[in-house]
Amino acid sequence: MGEGHVRTAACIAVGSELLEEDRLDTNSLTVTRVLLEHGVRVVEKRVVGDDEEVVSGAIRELMARVDLVVVTGGLGPTADDVTREAVARALGVELVHDPAVEAWIRARYAEFGREMPEVCTSMAMVVPGARVLRNARGSAPGILVERDGAILAVFPGVPREMERMLREDLVPLLEERGGGRRRLRRTLLVSGLVESEVEDRIRHLYGRYGRENVTILAAQGLVRLVLHAEGTPEEAAARLDEMERAFREGLGDHVAGVDVDGLAEVVLGLLRGRGQGLATAESCTGGLLGAMLTEVPGSSDVFRGGVVSYSNESKETLLGVSHATLMEHGAVSEPVARAMAEGARSVLGCDWGIGITGIAGPGGGTPEKPVGLVHWAVAGPEGTVHRSRIFPGSRSFIRRWVANAALDLLRRMASGAEVP
Ligand code: AMP
Ligand code: MG
Repeated sequence: MGEGHVRTAACIAVGSELLEEDRLDTNSLTVTRVLLEHGVRVVEKRVVGDDEEVVSGAIRELMARVDLVVVTGGLGPTADDVTREAVARALGVELVHDPAVEAWIRARYAEFGREMPEVCTSMAMVVPGARVLRNARGSAPGILVERDGAILAVFPGVPREMERMLREDLVPLLEERGGGRRRLRRTLLVSGLVESEVEDRIRHLYGRYGRENVTILAAQGLVRLVLHAEGTPEEAAARLDEMERAFREGLGDHVAGVDVDGLAEVVLGLLRGRGQGLATAESCTGGLLGAMLTEVPGSSDVFRGGVVSYSNESKETLLGVSHATLMEHGAVSEPVARAMAEGARSVLGCDWGIGITGIAGPGGGTPEKPVGLVHWAVAGPEGTVHRSRIFPGSRSFIRRWVANAALDLLRRMASGAEVP
């Protein structure tokens, strides 16, 4: 293969099911992420049905415009799999049968104790001059070929087969072409600020690090700041260290974690380091917070358990919230949120307790206690802190947002950060 530096790429997702109302092309997201790590930017994506003419047209057009075209899907043995023929047509060649590839496919089937169905001989038809990519997780071979300075990589549609071949067959080629240059990223998880507030605090750094190297993503009360840097792996890592320092300066203790999945992971790590335990008492979140905590591997050494107390009775009997408090203030109130957090802490005998009670809607609101009103409290070794807010948005949005708000309150109390 030639020597040109690979900078731009396009993805073609082949599959008529991807044009229906209930399936999305996710392969291109994986491709985009992996290519970006190697400094290759996806500049165009297409989703096309299993139609030989359309697929070959897309390949031809995109190969004329970008350095690399990645096609996924349609390499199987069934009648709707036309990608192999489309590649041949786009390159103006005829497919030829390769006995060695057929023998390999037969051997793949034999490994699973089966005999290769005759239709699978179609997968042994290869593009002359192309590399046949053996599929370590399936039986459909992929294709790697170069024409007029553009690389064409064709992988099966099954995501785990595709990703393996992408990493093992295409990435080494990109590394060789890129002279060891990489594009690395680091994600700062920011809590307690909205997107525009984050933007305000970091805007002055765009000039120094490049606007294209900073991405802000907001969701459910959290903001993710994704930093990118290019160079040799060492240069890029050093640059990211420098960027992280500079961005942290503007964001202070609103930075909850680096390269973490979410606040649950941060809080669990914090409490684990101190040998402390956590319990939850959830009303309107119905166990969502417990689910977020237990989603993190190894959470059992910190998370002791949770009570889903959806009724007044369960708040009284399981958490020890007093009948009088419930009657006087109502279930959605500061005293009840505090009593729930303290109840969870004492019933489960641990250092920290979180209580959440609110009206997630869409029904159940009143003028004094509208939909979206949520009270949450964290009880810890040094006392209980309560917060409340009327959250906008849908039921699911409110539930996720308050779960994150409660985790952030605990994070701040446990780490000595400011509690806004
Ligand atoms: P194929 O290689 O076309 O036979 O696709 C096999 C399976 O992979 C399909 O049934 C889909 O479930 C999945 N698949 C194909 N293309 C994609 C894509 N672009 N994104 C996510 N899944 C895909
Ligand atoms: Mg298909």
